[in-house]
Amino acid sequence: MDLKIIKKIDPKMAGLIEKEEKRQQETLTLIASENYPSKAVREALSSIFVAKYAEGRPYKRYYAGQEFIDKMETLVEERAREVFGLDSKVWAVNVQPLSGTPANYAVWRGLLKLGDKIMSLHLPHGGHLSHGSPASLVGKDFKIVNYFLDKNGWLNYDEVEKLAEKEKPNLIIAGYSAYPRIVDFKRFGEIAKKIGAYFVADIAHIAGLIAGKVHPSPFPYADVVTTTTHKTLRGPRGAIIFCKRELEKKIFPIVFPGIQGGPHEHSICAIGVALKEVMSQKFKRYARQIVKNTKALAAELKRYDFNLISGGSDNHLVLIDLRNKNISGKPAQERLEQAGIVINRNTIPTIPVDVPRQSPFDPLGMRLGTPALTTRGMKEKEMRKIAFWINEVISKPKSIPRVKQEIRKLCQKYPIP
Ligand SMILES: *Cc1c(COP(=O)(O)O)cnc(C)c1O
Repeated sequence: MDLKIIKKIDPKMAGLIEKEEKRQQETLTLIASENYPSKAVREALSSIFVAKYAEGRPYKRYYAGQEFIDKMETLVEERAREVFGLDSKVWAVNVQPLSGTPANYAVWRGLLKLGDKIMSLHLPHGGHLSHGSPASLVGKDFKIVNYFLDKNGWLNYDEVEKLAEKEKPNLIIAGYSAYPRIVDFKRFGEIAKKIGAYFVADIAHIAGLIAGKVHPSPFPYADVVTTTTHKTLRGPRGAIIFCKRELEKKIFPIVFPGIQGGPHEHSICAIGVALKEVMSQKFKRYARQIVKNTKALAAELKRYDFNLISGGSDNHLVLIDLRNKNISGKPAQERLEQAGIVINRNTIPTIPVDVPRQSPFDPLGMRLGTPALTTRGMKEKEMRKIAFWINEVISKPKSIPRVKQEIRKLCQKYPIP
């Protein structure tokens, strides 16, 4: 990135930007929630929309000067519907949430009364903080009941149904941070309908896969769908709420004025550019390549006797149980980082639940995702090489300096956009 002006007025900050850019260029990002937005998206992020206050919804604003903001935000809403094939008479869209967590919080507070019951996946099994962790406000505002993965790490829909019938939650969430398999949204929708609960699909991780038609869509079955825009969707940081028209009056006033003021219109503009890219054939190929790359990575890791939760992957991530490798998540993450492989340690769905209890600071597993490297243009061959390096670093720490050199060489061939 050209930092000519920053270098002149703020060399210290320019130095940090350059160092971070070099770090990203020379290392392999395998963090499943990260991705590289295009140059076009980054250009939009630095557009003049950054200077504008636009509290309120398009064409219902509080300040003057909204002629182009209104057109721009409406275009982004239309594109968001187009990407997922939605009818504007049925689905309302809000592109203003600052990120996934506030988007989710707005949905819960809009649809529920304080103290109502939410049913979601247990966090250490792959749920998300914003789905009712006691550490989140969500866990303080609502009663939370959790469902669990089975002992092989799969969703068990019969168990979800039994629990829903027993607990009668007001709202059921399907949507995960570390689940490597296809989600049966249809079944979730049926379960929610049977007990009269809202069904919310949180597709933060897999939105790009759904848009690229490599994962089934939740829209035919859900009352509300939330997503971040910066993961597989490959936009800037942000979030989108889609809800059935009859729910918009409940949810959208929580976004503003409930928990936010002026929306970040430059980010919204960049979301629009990202969505334009998502509609291309090129993006469909990208989504297919993510899945192919993850399958190649998973198969090769298994050859090195890595224990994959659920035995493999259908999407963009793999979750590894490290116990047979005599290392826990934190030292594994640190060792890999020394070699230039950037991953995150992760809890794994141990059964019985929480025995042994896993600390989020040093859990028993690690999570790897391919969206960012696929954006850099890497394919199955590179994934197999990466599995080889991961095995080297985990089993022979002495190999780290050599692996680091080899990774740097590979990275030069695949520059970040
Ligand atoms: C990433 C994620 C979110 C939102 O995260 P933010 O960091 O707040 O943008 C919400 N739900 C799930 C399932 C996620 O993976």
